Amino acid sequence: TGISELLLSRIRDVQDYPEPGVVFKDITPLLADPAAFTALTDSLAEFTVRHGATKVVGLEARGFILGAPVAVRAGVGFIPVRKAGKLPGATLSQAYALEYGTAEIEVHAEDLSPGDRVMVIDDVLATGGTAEASLSLIRRAGAQVAGVAVLMELGFLDGRARLEAALDGAPLEAL
Ligand code: 5GP
Repeated sequence: TGISELLLSRIRDVQDYPEPGVVFKDITPLLADPAAFTALTDSLAEFTVRHGATKVVGLEARGFILGAPVAVRAGVGFIPVRKAGKLPGATLSQAYALEYGTAEIEVHAEDLSPGDRVMVIDDVLATGGTAEASLSLIRRAGAQVAGVAVLMELGFLDGRARLEAALDGAPLEAL
């Protein structure tokens, strides 16, 4: 479609970042282009509304940049999921495996309640580990998962397969 081509044309491949052999997808050219950023926001917000979400969760850090305008556009609240140790209140924490070692993310426990339907927003789905951990946080809080929506999915890393059980039938959208 036209929008996919517009968005793709504003993502820059950076060779050997953050380490040799990795091609990093840099979204800063897209953020700097108001037509592309608006099209992205509108599309993610439409998906959020269509799936009946009552909250948007954004994953640190680029999921904050995309998730906040999506929440405003969709007319729902925004909840940050942060790396461990950054949130001042009572949190739920979820550890997950990286290629080497582990990582941990947190959410304010009071931000999610059993009546909520939550859309998770991020820029890039790579291995799916971060998104999978966020879905665990949402379910542990007693809330429902409305879906996961990202700008870009790196298909060769099979994140979609890793997320399948955690999604439990909820949609995964990659623009
Ligand atoms: P995963 O947990 O799926 O392996 O990694 C996804 C997380 O890492 C996302 O929060 C995403 O922002 C970041 N990430 C991984 N690879 C890239 C990339 O090539 N470009 C960008 N912009 N983010 C990436």
